Amino acid sequence: MRRFLLRVTTFLCIAASVALMISMQQDAVIESVKTERVVDCRVSYPVRAVLINQPFGKNPDPATPGKIHFHYGTDFRAGVGDPITSSTSGVVIYSGREMNKSKYDWGFGLHIKVRDECDRIWLYAHLSRIQTEIGKQVRRGERIGLAGYSGLVFPFGKAGSHLHVELRIKGDSIKNAVDPMSIYKEQKS
Ligand SMILES: [Zn+2]
Repeated sequence: MRRFLLRVTTFLCIAASVALMISMQQDAVIESVKTERVVDCRVSYPVRAVLINQPFGKNPDPATPGKIHFHYGTDFRAGVGDPITSSTSGVVIYSGREMNKSKYDWGFGLHIKVRDECDRIWLYAHLSRIQTEIGKQVRRGERIGLAGYSGLVFPFGKAGSHLHVELRIKGDSIKNAVDPMSIYKEQKS
C-alpha cells in the first residue's frame, strides 16, 4: 500500500511539474506576443487611378518654359475633391498650410505629413480639404483629405489640380526626398 501511495505521489509530482512547465512556456509565448512590435511598412497608392503628371527628378520646369527643374516628389493626376488616402500606416505629424523655412519647402498649400511605422515621412500637397488631424493614427488606405490646387500649381487654378506626394527618409527635410515610385514599385515586384 505504502509503495502504491509512493508511486501515486511521485506521479502527481511529475504531472504537477509538467503542468507548471507548460504554463511557464505559455506565459513566455504570451509575453513575447505582447512585447513584439509588428511594424507595417506596406504601401498603397494614394489615388484610385494612378496616372503621373510629373515624375520625381529633373523635369522641364512648368513655370519657366525651356528650363529644367528638380521635382522632389511625384505628381499624380487628381481632380478637385478626389479622395486622397494615406499610402502607409502611421501618425499624422502635420496638417495645415504652414511652410518650413527651407527655401525648397514652399508652395504646398494645404498639406499633410504622415510619419509611417518605418520612420519615413509622406507629404501630400495641394489639397482642397484636410480630413485628419495632427497626432491621429492613420491606417494604410484611410482617407485623409481631398485633392485640389492650393499652393503653387501649374497651370494656375483649378486646371492645375493634382496630388504632389513627397517621400522623405532619414529626416523631415526636402534634401532627404527620394522617388516615391521606387517604394510603390518595389512592393509590387
Ligand atoms: Zn509636384
